[in-house]
Amino acid sequence: MLRITKPDYDLIRWEAERSYPHECCGILLGSPHNHERLVTLTVPCKNARTDAPGNRYSIPPEQVIAALKLARSRSESIIGFYHSHPDHPAKCSRTDLEEAHWFDCSYVITSVEHGHATATQSYVLTGSEEEKRFQAEEIEVEAYRQPLRIAL
Ligand SMILES: [Zn+2]
Repeated sequence: MLRITKPDYDLIRWEAERSYPHECCGILLGSPHNHERLVTLTVPCKNARTDAPGNRYSIPPEQVIAALKLARSRSESIIGFYHSHPDHPAKCSRTDLEEAHWFDCSYVITSVEHGHATATQSYVLTGSEEEKRFQAEEIEVEAYRQPLRIAL
């Protein structure tokens, strides 16, 4: 399950609409928590696929590295990625699976129809590089989250 706050969820969907008719993409930071992934920060990225931005996306490696460093500085990790499907269903494509390499991470897809975000669906990448697959997972949108308290 992917747990995300309403503002982060809205940001992902807004990014999908804003980028239309191109695909948007970004990284989700947070912490894995008993088979749940808890999103604490959404990092919008640039779609580097200028050759086919309408149906492909690629996050520039330097932005992945920057997100990794940011996550580390927060004692967190990259727990997922998001992108959009302009005028296509929120289902992972063959290309999405081929280009996915982060196991146990969430891949969130938002469908945008005529510029309006419709379905948002999340998939976990499971298996290994030789035999991998996407497994649909539930998204729990939290209206409010208790602030994290750090014990000193
Ligand atoms: Zn896709």
